[in-house]
Amino acid sequence: MPARRRLTGILRRLAAGLAGGRHCAVCGRRLDKGADEVCAACLTSLPFTRFHGCPDNPVERLFRGLLPVERAGALLRYRPLERSRFVLLRLKYFHAPASGIALGRMMARDVWPTDFFREVDAIVPVPLTPQRLHRRGYNQSEMLARGIADVTGLPVETGAVSRVVERPSQTLLHGRSRRENVEHVFRLTNPARVAGRHLLMVDDVLTTGSTLLSLGRTLMEAGGVRLSVLTLALAGEHHVVEDGGIATP
Ligand SMILES: [Zn+2]
Repeated sequence: MPARRRLTGILRRLAAGLAGGRHCAVCGRRLDKGADEVCAACLTSLPFTRFHGCPDNPVERLFRGLLPVERAGALLRYRPLERSRFVLLRLKYFHAPASGIALGRMMARDVWPTDFFREVDAIVPVPLTPQRLHRRGYNQSEMLARGIADVTGLPVETGAVSRVVERPSQTLLHGRSRRENVEHVFRLTNPARVAGRHLLMVDDVLTTGSTLLSLGRTLMEAGGVRLSVLTLALAGEHHVVEDGGIATP
């Protein structure tokens, strides 16, 4: 795509994010009256994974041997230059928290026909550090969680865990060192809120799984916790390396 056209596209999406009215949660185009939260063009071109409820799906495999995850899913596959990229750009950088809520509703409706939410007690979005939350103004994972709550009626639990480290930097680490490095990213601040409950952890993009691994382990410190995972997007092609760690080529 010529740079000029790409720039025009970015500016149009940015303008749509700033303007009022109802807009497509993905591309930012103004929606026709009566249209759903995502325009028809986006609905037909987004790379949906369609593997929720399938045992042994790639998200489940990501946590195998590392964290006892009961159910796992991702709405979209995320590859650079694909349309799903705009979903995350808009959600994170175009200051579009309403897009996050709309996309969360879409995530919930996508898995609704399966038994994905059966016995889930609460949704736990991946927290941001207070500094990052202040800079962005909202937590994009919490917006997704609120959308899922709209559809399921499940409570969103944000008072149990806080984040102490912005970004675990273990992308290039493997095995033992990587597993040690994911500890201490989160702190359990109110165990009573999550003890004995089945928690659905929600994040925007799942890459190495290290953030959710760390969050899951922190939540388990409360005792009797069951875990499931639902993310907006799954990035990369995952495979499990021999020592039980996770690698993304
Ligand atoms: Zn659209």
